[in-house]
Amino acid sequence: PYDVLVVGGGPAGAAAAIYAGRKGIRVGLVAERFGGQVLETLGIENIIGTPYTEGEKFMGQVEEHVRQYNVDIIKAQRAEKLEKRELVELTLANGVVLKSKTAILSTGASWRNLGISGEQEFKNKGVAYCPHCDGPLFAEKDVAVVGGGNSGIEAAIDLAGMAKHVTVLEFLPELKADEVLQKRLFSLPNVTVLTNVETTAITGDVKVNGLDYKERTTGEKHHIGLSGVFVLIGLVPNNQWLEGVVEMNNRGEIVVDKAGATSLEGVFAAGDCTDSVYKQIIISMGSGATAALGAFDYLIRE
Ligand code: FAD
Repeated sequence: PYDVLVVGGGPAGAAAAIYAGRKGIRVGLVAERFGGQVLETLGIENIIGTPYTEGEKFMGQVEEHVRQYNVDIIKAQRAEKLEKRELVELTLANGVVLKSKTAILSTGASWRNLGISGEQEFKNKGVAYCPHCDGPLFAEKDVAVVGGGNSGIEAAIDLAGMAKHVTVLEFLPELKADEVLQKRLFSLPNVTVLTNVETTAITGDVKVNGLDYKERTTGEKHHIGLSGVFVLIGLVPNNQWLEGVVEMNNRGEIVVDKAGATSLEGVFAAGDCTDSVYKQIIISMGSGATAALGAFDYLIRE
């Protein structure tokens, strides 16, 4: 069996594998798609010490780094079941069962898509999901935020400090964000809030040039010209297959303690699949390192 079996090959899983590999123990890493969400990112400007890089290039370097250690990398395989007997048993989609003394879950998350025309086409060409990452690209430009929950309103406040104008579009008749965020939002001079509207298309040529929406009460259609659309309608952790196995919060995120331990003994978790407050590359890497050290501590006490 492995000493540490990592599920997921994004920043969290890679960091966990490197930290575990450096202990000279038996480490495996299973990933459906090595690289994770970072592969969907073009420019990255917030990895400390690396002023600029690109998603594919960066995760290529991360993989090279993992390969410097004795880590079994199992790619293009999906984990479907986790059971704890004497050992942790991980069943893959192809039927293979991997056994390990500990496991680190780092399956990440996916941002919910609107599923409207233009969204896929203009991803990274004006359609964005992360204001901390892509906000500065829209300095002095007009942008929209789709989604009036906490993440949408936080994004709108953040963007209002950089962009020329921010339009917020919420499907429901009212914003869902906390009162204090709404207050802050409505105090800003360069923000327009549209409620009870359905965003129907993102338009553009080589990049985004606008957005179509419909008023839900009257059916009246409108177009707004802008350079960027931030889609913030929720983050879905890739944890459906772990329901009932480890404790999760009401958002389906795995609850972890300060050492990355889950409710199931010997099973740790890191990155966007957990209840960490912020979801970012360096934060995921830090929590991957934490989970590996937590797992190592657990192993030496066994
Ligand atoms: P992920 O990167 O989501 O990786 C999850 C891994 O688990 C993948 O390898 C996946 O294939 C695998 N997996 C999932 N389920 C299974 C399963 N059942 N079996 C096997 N493998 C599985 N953050 C920044 O800091 N800066 C940025 O500029 C930035 N830009 C972003 C732009 C976009 C478009 C997106 C989508 C995200 C961006 N982020 C950015 C956020 C950042 O990418 C995430 O916080 C980070 O990738 C999370 O790392 P992770 O390892 O937890 O999960």
